[in-house]
Amino acid sequence: MTADLLAPRGTRTGRRAPWALMYHSVADRRAGDPYLVTVDPERLGRQLRWLARHGLTGVSMRELLAARARGRAAGLVGLTFDDGYADFLTEAVPRLRHHGCTATVFVLPGLLGGTNSWDPDGPRKALLTADDIRAARSAGMEVGSHGMLHRDLTTLDDVELDLELTRSRALLAEITGVEPDGFCHPFGALDRRTLRATRRAGYRYACAVDPGPLACTHALPRTYVGHADNSPRLHAKRLRHRMRGGDLADPIAVPQGGDA
Ligand SMILES: [Zn+2]
Repeated sequence: MTADLLAPRGTRTGRRAPWALMYHSVADRRAGDPYLVTVDPERLGRQLRWLARHGLTGVSMRELLAARARGRAAGLVGLTFDDGYADFLTEAVPRLRHHGCTATVFVLPGLLGGTNSWDPDGPRKALLTADDIRAARSAGMEVGSHGMLHRDLTTLDDVELDLELTRSRALLAEITGVEPDGFCHPFGALDRRTLRATRRAGYRYACAVDPGPLACTHALPRTYVGHADNSPRLHAKRLRHRMRGGDLADPIAVPQGGDA
């Protein structure tokens, strides 16, 4: 009885949301960080060591979902980096590789080599170029779409919505040679209409932040990780996911797309 009560919700249905962490930028924070999207490189290293100490390996969402569908996701945690900052390649990738981890980076094909213009108050941060995206993929990282221009999809009309989803997917396929499996909802904003459009655009999964009752394969919840997340805070977040991580409305399917 006890074991049953302690089993995370959804375990028996196979619909429990897997644990996935959400990062953004990995850089020196002295330039300012009003949106709390930046983790110092050294802190990322410590967080990856914390995962290893607890028997966890960080992997891309694609690897996580494929392992999950085979019933082999124990010990895996999804690592995601939103917005496609240039520092993903220079700061995050070397540390991920050092710790034997992979990750998914969600990039903006409409802003290649641009900056985070959607954050009016933050320091300008450079975004990955097409060459950088190819380099990240060559380093074993998964590349997914974050839309064209980092727009709140729920505010767009059907034509603009479709453009953000399908055009960004096609551009990424041109850049990498492989259609991306994954999408990440900008600002975590979604509703039933944008979810339907995400599925229709061909994505096999999509990441959200806290989708509540809309949680499903195309609105996977993630745990925010920031610079303040030291060992006790990571413990608390892991526990919170185990106790309160939601169930998904659908069983997770195996991603079928590219090889990374
Ligand atoms: Zn974003």
